[in-house]
Amino acid sequence: MASGVMSAAVLKAPGKPLEIECRPRPVPGPGQALIRVRAAGLCHTDLHLADGSVITPPLPLVLGHEIAGEVAEAGSGAGCAVGDRVLAYYYQGCGRCTWCANGSENLCREPAAKVGFDTDGGLCEYYLAGAGSLVGIADTVSFEEAAVLGCSGTTAVRVVRSVARTAPGESLVVIGAGGVGLAVVQVAVADGAHVIAVDPHAPSREQARRYGAHAVIDPGAADPVAAVGTASADEGCDVVVDTVGNEYTVGQAVRMTRTRGRVVLVGYTGRPAPLDVLDVVVRETEIRGSVGATLADARTAMGMAAAGLLRGCVEARYPLVQVNQALTRLATGEVTGRLVVTP
Ligand SMILES: [Zn+2]
Ligand SMILES: [Zn+2]
Repeated sequence: MASGVMSAAVLKAPGKPLEIECRPRPVPGPGQALIRVRAAGLCHTDLHLADGSVITPPLPLVLGHEIAGEVAEAGSGAGCAVGDRVLAYYYQGCGRCTWCANGSENLCREPAAKVGFDTDGGLCEYYLAGAGSLVGIADTVSFEEAAVLGCSGTTAVRVVRSVARTAPGESLVVIGAGGVGLAVVQVAVADGAHVIAVDPHAPSREQARRYGAHAVIDPGAADPVAAVGTASADEGCDVVVDTVGNEYTVGQAVRMTRTRGRVVLVGYTGRPAPLDVLDVVVRETEIRGSVGATLADARTAMGMAAAGLLRGCVEARYPLVQVNQALTRLATGEVTGRLVVTP
């Protein structure tokens, strides 16, 4: 668009549809790059942001934290070139605190930006990125897959490697085979774990199988805790990753683990999720949360994608003007993997 303007999908009020607005096309300054957005992924976090129920964003806000495209213009010292294919990573720590210093900028208390959460994101034609947040995308990986892996894949890398610290040969159950769950399946399989995926949605279970899950369980057809016990043929599994976090799954996650097993909580609903403390006590279960990911995780995820070990599951693509249809579809809970907007 040579006219110096662009379209953006803007959240102006909680619970209201996003509005497509004409905005000035940004101009990159030193250390910045202007990205022609080719794909912007949507996830349940966007639904939480849009309805304001769990997360309250500053308004107006351009949503979109899963951003892939090509460099359209590079500011001085940006260290990238026009045409470079890049993922723009969304989480930018302050760079000064102890969390940022030890490479855990996802825990930074005063991040410089959480793009698409508190700073305008990628549901637009051109996105202005700090060059330090860019991660290269291999030619063999599509913009759509890179975009969704920018959230789901990075989160999965962090969960499996840094939080669960999954070892080869361990058994890992993932509750929920949505975008993050399907990425957890792939990272855990790549790391040599025996993987069981639990999801009530048949197409998601089939996709988990295609990504290498050794067993899948329909929690609507059988008690998932008993089914995991049967499938793991043991006292329970080593690791459970709960990507759902509802009133049933957290308690199930603990009961699926063996003694001194690990539970990683990564999904949330905003509602309380009861837990029988005795279940935790008698197993000496280790329970940890996992939030977001780091730039290093983004580099790992893009590296795994380049190596063919991690695919982004994209059910459908929507033009920017249909972003609200995409959000409505996502809210049905029946999407296999993720949806992307292609501005
Ligand atoms: Zn996301
Ligand atoms: Zn910090």
